[in-house]
Amino acid sequence: MSDTNGAGGAHEANAANGTTRAGTTRGLNGAGGTTGTGGLDAALFAAWAEEIAAAVRADRDRLTALDSAIGDADHGANLDRGFTAVAEALAGGRPDTPGALLSLVGNTLIRKVGGASGPLYGMAFREAGKALGDAPAVSLADLDEALAAGLAAIRKLGSATEGDKTMVDALAPALRALTQAVQEGQDPAEAVGAAAEAALAGAQATIPMQARKGRASYLGPRSVGHEDPGAASTALIVRALHAAVSRTAGAPGETSRRAPEGPA
Ligand code: ADP
Ligand code: MG
Repeated sequence: MSDTNGAGGAHEANAANGTTRAGTTRGLNGAGGTTGTGGLDAALFAAWAEEIAAAVRADRDRLTALDSAIGDADHGANLDRGFTAVAEALAGGRPDTPGALLSLVGNTLIRKVGGASGPLYGMAFREAGKALGDAPAVSLADLDEALAAGLAAIRKLGSATEGDKTMVDALAPALRALTQAVQEGQDPAEAVGAAAEAALAGAQATIPMQARKGRASYLGPRSVGHEDPGAASTALIVRALHAAVSRTAGAPGETSRRAPEGPA
């Protein structure tokens, strides 16, 4: 198996303390703003949210089965309820900017998803949205920073570190892979593909871990031998981003699938 998250380290600290995310792209593409990607717009972020809703729906039973092994068997249902509500909200009208779109996702998840994952994912999307501000389109480096802000929010709220057998074990390596890909100048589809691969590997790496946070930690050593449901759903969420980016920003000569509906 290829190890896509071996080179981490330095960027981890940025994601962990959140201090570098306040509106700068320091160290990413700071020198000249030369992402050259054409930008990731609200349509792309809407496609991501819709892609997550479909993926969660398709894997709802698997997520619930994972949560029934080391939790209370509601993770699939929780996320399906939340992202179904997100898809419905988007069908009723799409926000104009990536930042507003992610804020809508976050607020909807906080409202609709209970348990631990609702506030954690909700705050993550909300903080990611806030980090994107009100730009009509953002760069891959901006997306990387926004997701780092999301991870920082999860860490702040849940105080989990890597190795605790949570969603952090999938999201942190995904962010390391994405940051590295951005620094190497990879195109968005490639970069997010590397992040998706790292998230999946991170989720699978939770299997031998003993949970130290969340409901699964009540099981102590009996939590060993099962994939963490939140890490599994994080892998789905990053994979959905890859699917959305591959379909939209990745298509040559077509940087956006913006719906012909004019400004809202
Ligand atoms: P609940 O555990 O309340 O039933 P869910 O089943 O929806 O909520 O979500 C469980 C997932 O939430 C876990 O698999 C884990 O990944 C994540 N989680 C739980 N507690 C924490 C925490 N303190 N920090 C980060 N992630 C957490
Ligand atoms: Mg649960």
